[in-house]
Amino acid sequence: MKKHELMELPYAIEALEPFISAQTLGFHHGKHLNTYVNNLNALLPGSGLEDASLEEIVCKAQGGILNNAGQILNHNLYFAQFSGSPMATAPTGQTGKAITRDFGSFEAFQEEFLKKGTTLFGSGWVWLSAGPDGKLIITQEPNAANPLQKGLTPLLTFDVWEHAYYLDYQNRRADHLAALWKIIDWEIIEKRLK
Ligand code: MN
Repeated sequence: MKKHELMELPYAIEALEPFISAQTLGFHHGKHLNTYVNNLNALLPGSGLEDASLEEIVCKAQGGILNNAGQILNHNLYFAQFSGSPMATAPTGQTGKAITRDFGSFEAFQEEFLKKGTTLFGSGWVWLSAGPDGKLIITQEPNAANPLQKGLTPLLTFDVWEHAYYLDYQNRRADHLAALWKIIDWEIIEKRLK
């Protein structure tokens, strides 16, 4: 059977400061995500999904297996989209063009994305995805859900579970989400779109 592993962060634990502290990243990656990985490995034997990919599990499973696999897939996409190096503050290339085409401007996209993130009630994720026709769409997904379940290709996501920001921002979810624009690596998003 396939053993799911905790993803390695592609940057140092303090690389995203001051936007995400090393303490938050340490708990979020090393404790929360690690727990989902351990839970999934414990639940899979006998499920028929022992050798399935996370993407397959998320589209086929139910209950605890679905929730833990969904959280692993979501967090893998989330952590991989950041960089601690200075980067372009707005997407160029195909992503930039598609955002302007489908939202009017990058600023209008950011506004809608943050609004959907701040108004998502409870725990979940806000996503930018591409539809089968290439059109970009912003969705709110509760708990561990992923746009793959709707036939969409996930491109960018902000985690709005309190564990993602509470140590640094307490109740100020909107401030946390707005800060994330400073650390997005748009080249990663561009690769996901292609
Ligand atoms: Mn999280």
